[in-house]
Amino acid sequence: MKFGGTSVEDARAMERTAAIVGGRRKKGLETIVVVSAMAKVTDQLLAAAAAAGRGDKAGALAISARLRSRHIDTANDLLEKDPFIALEMAIHQEFDALDDLLRGISAVGELTARTGDLVVSFGERLSSRMVAAAFDQRGLNGTHVDARTCIITDANFGKAAPLEAAIEAKLTELVLPLLAAGKTPVMGGFIGSTVEGITTTLGRGGSDYTAALVGGGLHAGAIEIWTDVNGIMTTDPRIVPEALRVKTISFEEAAELAYFGAKVLHPATILPAVQKSIPVWVLNSRNAENEGTKITAVAPKCKSPFKSIAAKKRLTIIDIVASRMLMSHGYLKAVFDVLDKYRCVVDMVSTSEVSISLTVDSNERLPEVAEELSKIADVKMEGNKALICMVGEDIRGHNGIAGQVFSAVSHVNVRMISQGASEINMSFMIDEDDVEEAVRSLHKHFFSEPDDSIFDIEARVATAKA
Ligand code: ASP
Ligand code: MG
Repeated sequence: MKFGGTSVEDARAMERTAAIVGGRRKKGLETIVVVSAMAKVTDQLLAAAAAAGRGDKAGALAISARLRSRHIDTANDLLEKDPFIALEMAIHQEFDALDDLLRGISAVGELTARTGDLVVSFGERLSSRMVAAAFDQRGLNGTHVDARTCIITDANFGKAAPLEAAIEAKLTELVLPLLAAGKTPVMGGFIGSTVEGITTTLGRGGSDYTAALVGGGLHAGAIEIWTDVNGIMTTDPRIVPEALRVKTISFEEAAELAYFGAKVLHPATILPAVQKSIPVWVLNSRNAENEGTKITAVAPKCKSPFKSIAAKKRLTIIDIVASRMLMSHGYLKAVFDVLDKYRCVVDMVSTSEVSISLTVDSNERLPEVAEELSKIADVKMEGNKALICMVGEDIRGHNGIAGQVFSAVSHVNVRMISQGASEINMSFMIDEDDVEEAVRSLHKHFFSEPDDSIFDIEARVATAKA
């Protein structure tokens, strides 16, 4: 069971988390808990590290002092007197070590990736200790496990790659016996260490990855990702209030959606579980009754072609026209080298005989990109664009889907179209101002008679009655 930052953001959230875990234990299930840092703590630790790296010792220590009081206050709200005193001491020790580290970085005035990982690791080290203590007081036999003893990685600081065989061995040695003894092991997500014991991190959002590594490594019956939404929805409920929860979705579909903006979880991180056919559930810790979304290796049959519609805004279309040279050898490489230099993320590409159109995230450096590209081609840029991405494994089996999609949005101006190579997504670019209208029309067309084996139509009926 993995709980994200909002599920451990304060004493009340940790309380809810304990109740959810208690419910699983009552059912006779053995659970291992992986937690993120308390909400926003990772960002603040990164800011402290950056300040120290600039030599701003006072700034770095001020951030650390605020974090120290937040953690102590939360522990105080969470625990009775004796366990609080024990935990308070442990928290002070951690922050004293953090402050020493920040002073050292400020003195040198240089922040390496390796030291950055050490600074940011404090978030999960602290939250996992606190949650373990909270569980212990609430009869769940919580036991803290330092994730760095089990999650063994390479030395690619900032985005280390896990060494799965070593992890499995460590989990079997250190965590399995705790389960056998009736304990609830609690470990921080996101952090690990090299074989030599140097602290590493798995990259932002890495706690889901930890959960998948632990669940995969121990061949768990299920992995639960507890977050603050009811699961994956047919589209953004802020645009379409009657959007439905998707009950089951395939790993590939979830991956397409995550890439194009549905921010529930990054599926690459749950790959270790999916490869072992362990189902992954996305659940809401603020609404634990809700059944969430189940992500499986193979998609169940669905009567409608699409599972979900995602929209990504703030994109720019770049049209590159070069009448003679375009398709000659090395030309595309020259174009993409420029994009690479400015670290532009390309979402969609389409080519004709004389031009390439591509879309990138809008950013401040685009004028420089345009100037550099104009040395090799005529360049036109159009900002304020958005991408609509429709995902579903069952596009394949349906004829005339493209016709239905584009007649549903026949009143908006479509600039670029692509049917993904994966054959499970259909995407197109429109003006940002048209997003709401297009999403509503598409949702109405494709989800007015939803397949009740895949979509939660009961919620829609309940809201209609209310
Ligand atoms: N705390 C880390 C982050 O904010 C990891 C996670 O929450 O998954 O990126
Ligand atoms: Mg997260």
